[in-house]
Amino acid sequence: MVELPPATPLLGMGLPELERWAVAHGQAAFRGRQLHDWLYAKGARSLDAISVLPKAFREQLAAAPPEAGFDWIGRSRELHRSVARDGTTKLLLGTHDGLSLETVGIPAEGRLTVCVSSQVGCPMACSFCATGKGGLQRSLAVHEIVDQVLSVREVMDQRPSHVVFMGMGEPLLNIEAVLAAIDCLCSDLGMAQRQITVSTVGVPKTLPTLAARALERLGRAQFTLAVSLHAPDQRLRQELIPTAHTYPLEALLEDCRRYVALTGRRLSFEYVLLGGVNDQPRHAEALSRLVRGFQSHVNLIPYNPIAEEQFQRPAPGAVEAFRRALQARHVAVSVRASRGLDADAACGQLRRRLIDPGGNG
Ligand code: SAH
Repeated sequence: MVELPPATPLLGMGLPELERWAVAHGQAAFRGRQLHDWLYAKGARSLDAISVLPKAFREQLAAAPPEAGFDWIGRSRELHRSVARDGTTKLLLGTHDGLSLETVGIPAEGRLTVCVSSQVGCPMACSFCATGKGGLQRSLAVHEIVDQVLSVREVMDQRPSHVVFMGMGEPLLNIEAVLAAIDCLCSDLGMAQRQITVSTVGVPKTLPTLAARALERLGRAQFTLAVSLHAPDQRLRQELIPTAHTYPLEALLEDCRRYVALTGRRLSFEYVLLGGVNDQPRHAEALSRLVRGFQSHVNLIPYNPIAEEQFQRPAPGAVEAFRRALQARHVAVSVRASRGLDADAACGQLRRRLIDPGGNG
């Protein structure tokens, strides 16, 4: 009777799949629409809570062995919540297999941005990033990404307007789940691709794949691609980002050009400003030369100190000087405001403090 593999959670399925699921379980197809409504619009946390389903059906599902996955629609458990004075809300969510991940809701005039994780941990080991210290546990599945958006919506009682893949993990190591999650956010939660940003530090040969798979899967690639540059030359970049030694800056930029050509979208470059390391006028000048010719936008991110204090925040005035230096060279630039600093705002910080207080990875 069951067509789907065991334990395939309902969350992440679209309307046609939910209709097929209902029929495969001896129900009328319209039950699929009801499931859709309860999963996405109402945010149900269990099948049992979906009171519109016939009681006998819910009992039948509840009686099924757990490995059938019926009792589990794919929602996480909230393990911890940290709310900053500015309203930024960071959640530590627990997965069915006992792992934990972070997601953040960032409110700003009329907007609610959810910063989602694509992996538990991250293998990229960027020297300034808290997540990178602990290595990778595993990639997240579609429902675990969508669940983060639903969890923030539930906790903050507000509809998310934007989603950025800037939490834990490297999205380009989990392309299929990331694209399926984007599909679900758009088709099932009513978001627009243009309100979604995917951030990557660069994984060799994956940017053209991302573009091609997005076009195949979503019909178009209108989400914003943000590329974490963080240095204007290969030498400094590979000091900060160890994985960059296998991916020369020129090759990364060439892949960015191909991505732009394939998708027709401009991209953003992210640049973490580390005091005295990459925030000097000569870096701004070199960066402006590097991004010249790109239809791009540079987003400066003042370093958010993490427990393993290896770097320093840029000196007062350095951020503004860097911004002006780029602007004077006609580079479109903005500075990302630091939000929720009192809520362990840096990527991976909350999880590290709560799960791994010793900081041994
Ligand atoms: N793996 C993706 C997403 C990571 S998080 C990527 O690297 O792009 C999103 C951004 O936050 C990245 O640009 C990352 O370099 C940056 N970041 C990580 N730790 C930071 C910190 N302590 N302070 C400021 N920005 C940080």
